[in-house]
Amino acid sequence: MRIVVAGGGIGGLALGAGLRRSGHRVAVFDRDTDVTATGGYHITLDDRALRALADLVPQHTLRRLLASGSALRLREPDAFRDHRGRLLGHGPDLAGSASVDVDRVTLRTLLADAVGPDLHLGRHVTGVDHDRAGTPRLLFTDGATESADLVVGADGAHSTIARHLAGGPTNHPAGITGFSGRTHRADLTPTERHRLGPRSALAVGPRGAALYTGFLDPVGNAALDAPDLRASTTTGPTYIWGAMFPDTPATAALRKLRGPALRDALLERYRHHGWAEHTLEVIARADPTSVAAFRFNAAPTRATDLAPWQAGDITALGDAVHATPPTAGMGAGAAIRDAADLITHLDRATTLTEAITGFEAAMRHRGAEALTAAMRVVRLILATNTPLGAAATHLATPLLAAATRLRR
Ligand SMILES: Cc1cc2nc3c(=O)[nH]c(=O)nc-3n(C[C@H](O)[C@H](O)[C@H](O)COP(=O)(O)OP(=O)(O)OC[C@H]3O[C@@H](n4cnc5c(N)ncnc54)[C@H](O)[C@@H]3O)c2cc1C
Repeated sequence: MRIVVAGGGIGGLALGAGLRRSGHRVAVFDRDTDVTATGGYHITLDDRALRALADLVPQHTLRRLLASGSALRLREPDAFRDHRGRLLGHGPDLAGSASVDVDRVTLRTLLADAVGPDLHLGRHVTGVDHDRAGTPRLLFTDGATESADLVVGADGAHSTIARHLAGGPTNHPAGITGFSGRTHRADLTPTERHRLGPRSALAVGPRGAALYTGFLDPVGNAALDAPDLRASTTTGPTYIWGAMFPDTPATAALRKLRGPALRDALLERYRHHGWAEHTLEVIARADPTSVAAFRFNAAPTRATDLAPWQAGDITALGDAVHATPPTAGMGAGAAIRDAADLITHLDRATTLTEAITGFEAAMRHRGAEALTAAMRVVRLILATNTPLGAAATHLATPLLAAATRLRR
């Protein structure tokens, strides 16, 4: 069977690698000309995503990925704080966690290596249709076409393929824009280094302002101790942070800024909302070239609302179907699991329609699970942007912080 894939992001590359490995003919097309030209935070891969990857990529690629990943089990439990930096509570103990955080660039590069010559860069897909013989095909900007037995749209949140199948957009803005950046832990003052610690944290303040600081250390906390295999772009303890604000005209204005101007404007925005100066050090000391905006898009959280089309010889996976904000760290893992599951169904079913029907049914549930977890955090943040929510945040957080201090 020949399969063509629109989009060589996380899901499309995972699928391409797995199809090659299982003996199918595949071609993956991405509009990017360089797989390393991808921004964003780190990607969290849980045990289910790692198991899927073990099926999709050669063992050597998986070992390189683990040698380049930061193991969650080696860091302290996550912290929850308010805008003054007060501790409100901790997340679960991570000692038994199999999850790994990996640079988005590293993950994409390793997956691209596994796809090898079947990845075609600089190819912009403009549409999908069936030719006169009824064969599905991709259409490209230069007028070229690529026909196959099965077309898969792995072209992300603004998918051309899923839009064609659904007859319209499959997701909408989630109401929050994220701004990511990276800060070396060594660049922080000793006090702030100690306060943040080797842990990730989420701080939520009034008026929908939130700050996530993800701790990544692929060297000190390597998931696999094999320095010769390491391919991480992060080379020392680093906080990869995500500033989050509700979509308002003021946030839209921030999105137009770049580099140091964007970093300084983010700091001003937090100060305006009453954040304590020390909580902002992680942003103030960031590498200014790393600061960039990401609008969060979200598909519906109900499984029945996902992939609302009849199964056939054109399908889609990942963010194209279940665009997931990064607030639960599950979007990329769900896309990888979609890829593994599609191959399982193709290899087991007796007809293509049976395979795609089974695959899409399971994908709806996978997507809904990731979306429900991510939107819980989005709704919590947005709830502080109402007059009642803002007042409750001001009143309740000092009490919660005091209770946490007493418990300790
Ligand atoms: C820039 C960026 C940064 C992100 N950062 C994070 C993060 O740090 N943490 C996190 O949890 N999630 C992040 N996400 C979301 C997360 O990466 C996705 O949930 C996950 O990658 C889903 O995989 P996917 O393959 O469905 O989509 P993507 O990984 O978004 O891949 C889609 C691919 O399709 C290609 N494409 C789109 N349209 C076309 C077209 N018309 N023709 C050809 N190619 C096309 C794109 O170039 C892209 O490579 C980010 C997404 C993006 C786009």
